[in-house]
Amino acid sequence: MSSSFIPPHRILMGPGPSDVSQRVLDALARPTIGHLDPEFVKLMDEIKGLLQYAFQTENALTLPISAPGSAGMEACFVNLVSPRDTVIVCQNGVFGGRMKENVERCGATAIIVEDAWGEPVSVDKVAQAFEQNPDASILAFVHAETSTGVLSDAEALCALATKNGALSIVDAVTSLAGVPLKVDEWGADAVYSGTQKCLSCVPGISPVTFGPRAVEKINNRKTKVQSWFLDMQLVMAYWGGSAKRAYHHTAPVNNLYALHESLLMLREEGLEQAHLRHRRNHDALVSGLEDMGLSMAVAPEYRLPQLNAVNIPEGVDDAAVRATLLSDFDLEIGAGLGALAGKTWRIGLMGESSREENVSTCLAALKSVLG
Ligand SMILES: *Cc1c(COP(=O)(O)O)cnc(C)c1O
Repeated sequence: MSSSFIPPHRILMGPGPSDVSQRVLDALARPTIGHLDPEFVKLMDEIKGLLQYAFQTENALTLPISAPGSAGMEACFVNLVSPRDTVIVCQNGVFGGRMKENVERCGATAIIVEDAWGEPVSVDKVAQAFEQNPDASILAFVHAETSTGVLSDAEALCALATKNGALSIVDAVTSLAGVPLKVDEWGADAVYSGTQKCLSCVPGISPVTFGPRAVEKINNRKTKVQSWFLDMQLVMAYWGGSAKRAYHHTAPVNNLYALHESLLMLREEGLEQAHLRHRRNHDALVSGLEDMGLSMAVAPEYRLPQLNAVNIPEGVDDAAVRATLLSDFDLEIGAGLGALAGKTWRIGLMGESSREENVSTCLAALKSVLG
């Protein structure tokens, strides 16, 4: 017989999940109720309202998909992309590559606008791609590239899509609650996020929001959405506005208690304060790292405060350092991904993890391990 799993206490300073507060864990542990219980339906409505605040939107179709960020991504693509559509996909890291994969699996053509890893998406190159592909009906890009620690100009990119009569699909998995994200003001049409990054909730849920132009496109589809589970027309009947909900799937009841609590905490702190806190702790981390002689991988103007890419010094054993941080300091930092594997560390300061003590703990631990 095996015994219960007792996880170690870690400080999570990688690319997600981030630290989950006791308050959110307590919410998770409350008694499970039925997913069609009237009390649960009330909770669903509150979550939608809190998500509208987090996304800064009035979009009625704003809800949490019952699966991780990747499912939110897939929900945006399968509902908005039809076979033979042309989609401009911006690729400046790992997650843009997944968007391309989604477009192709929808039977559409992906026009790739490529930028170097560590650079933001070039708005000029996207403008050119629209000129060369006047039939492009969607622009897809990652707001905060977690693989490289780079922020792109979502406001300019959404404006460019609108100007060209195209819809925008925005990956806001890491940006939501960490940096400003103004869905309505920027005219973003479909946006997906995750719970385990700057919301500091447990992993496994993906908040999404669809604007009026996206909803119109979904309602006018000529072909069925290839995914039954992620077909928003069906999901809407479950999460929809009326009190009567049609059974679609069983919502992850306790995870949604946790999400509700983490969104309440965001609301209590206030989005602007949360952004300032991420900025402040980022500044402290960068100055501490630079004092130690380390250098950042991204130019200051594009750096994500919630995900700090640091160049691994010449001759340092990447894996050994991370293993020692974990075993001796209970501290998790992220490895480089894809083209940056072995070249950078990714130090996350997301949500609950973005705190002064964590910055000092991380700096002291790195100093000790690097000698
Ligand atoms: C983490 C992440 C995802 C994927 O989210 P999962 O919850 O792991 O599926 C997608 N895009 C970006 C930018 C991310 O950081």
